[in-house]
Amino acid sequence: MWIDAHAHLYDLTDDQIDSTIKEAGLNKIGLIVSTATNMETSQKVVRQCTMNDSIYGAAGISPFDTESIENTWYATLEEILTQPKIIALGEIGLDISNPRYPSLETQLPIFGQQLQLANEHNLPVVVHSRGYEKETAEICRKTSVKRAMFHCFTGDYDAAKKIIDNGYLISFSGILTFKNAEIRNLLPKIPIEHIVIETDTPYLAPVPFRGKRNYPALVRYTGKEVARILNMDVELVEKQLYHNFVTYFNVQP
Ligand SMILES: [Zn+2]
Repeated sequence: MWIDAHAHLYDLTDDQIDSTIKEAGLNKIGLIVSTATNMETSQKVVRQCTMNDSIYGAAGISPFDTESIENTWYATLEEILTQPKIIALGEIGLDISNPRYPSLETQLPIFGQQLQLANEHNLPVVVHSRGYEKETAEICRKTSVKRAMFHCFTGDYDAAKKIIDNGYLISFSGILTFKNAEIRNLLPKIPIEHIVIETDTPYLAPVPFRGKRNYPALVRYTGKEVARILNMDVELVEKQLYHNFVTYFNVQP
């Protein structure tokens, strides 16, 4: 069974969720992490988890959303984190690669507070970091964060090594199937126990669907690419990545 460790499903209607799960199931994707970006989408994620067995959730405020948050966010998030199927805080993080994002000064305190919150609730974090991966991993370590998944990783070996040394996971998206992607050279240098895969639905559909709208059933293309690059049996990769996710996030699907 494959797992889609990171997907944004909050824009989908209930009917669309039903068909998304059905198609995922037909393609052996048995667990999807519906991931929020702010308090409004976090509430939607809670609802989706409650209504669907194969959906688990991550709730939190993304770096992009740190500028426009309500001052009640902290209490709201604390409440959401008590929901049994919310298995992580996310996506949260630091992004300095995109000029449309709020400044690092705006992102930092919200990220820090959410890391503390994750520690208090003994939950892992799902981290979005671009252009700042190594520093972000160091902040997590200094904040005594035990479990973190760096989602849609596109950083270099230096950053990846730091993440692994801290005991964190690296999640690869459909970018892994793109012909000139640097992470194709990086993958074999990562111990397989630290690897998971994701779609980041609706973005970054893998080849041969590149440029189209992504959905969780397509995560298998990224899984097969992991097997191809590592010269491993596809079923072995599938089993290993499944094991990596469920043990790290402590879920029993
Ligand atoms: Zn995302």
